[in-house]
Amino acid sequence: MNRLERWRVYVLRLEHRPDRDKRVTTHVFLVARAFGAHGAYYSGKRDENVELSIRKVVESWGGTFTVEFVDDWADKIREWKRAGGEVIHLTMYGLPISDIIGEIRASSRDKLIVVGGAKVPRLVYELADWNVSITSQPHSEVGALSVFLHELYMGRELKREFENAKIKIIPQARGKKVIKLS
Ligand code: SAM
Repeated sequence: MNRLERWRVYVLRLEHRPDRDKRVTTHVFLVARAFGAHGAYYSGKRDENVELSIRKVVESWGGTFTVEFVDDWADKIREWKRAGGEVIHLTMYGLPISDIIGEIRASSRDKLIVVGGAKVPRLVYELADWNVSITSQPHSEVGALSVFLHELYMGRELKREFENAKIKIIPQARGKKVIKLS
């Protein structure tokens, strides 16, 4: 995958519950991959079905996106910061994205974007370098992540090509055209 920027972007999805969150967590990872993140971590309960479905997408559609389960999300956040990265927590209670995205984009630090599921612990707000809202209305981690990445990359992610893809869509005004590359 062509690099869009000098920093790397990972997503941390908090407290996955396989019985309730399977589709939403999968969608968080699909959006992360399609919109330019390099990989994702998740905490909660390990879910090999979600990991497998993302691996299959990467095998067919290309790129190097990875998904990794973490036992302790707070350790992952602290480790990320110790390594020099910054942590951006998406929450409707945070500062409006339009006020701070320029500063986040200008920083050369790798970015860990944290999205919640059920109730988000107070510690996340404290450990984050940035608490960012995509409107101050309740909606979803999938919607919040999409808009954040789109703003971060200023739309450049829309034209990105994925390397080592086995299949690729040739856009059509009507109908579907998919070609095999290997
Ligand atoms: N009740 C949860 C809490 O305590 O924050 C929020 C649940 S919400 C369905 C799941 C996730 O979507 C949140 O943790 C947040 O990451 C994201 N989210 C929802 N609305 C958002 C908004 N307006 N701005 C940024 N992120 C948002």
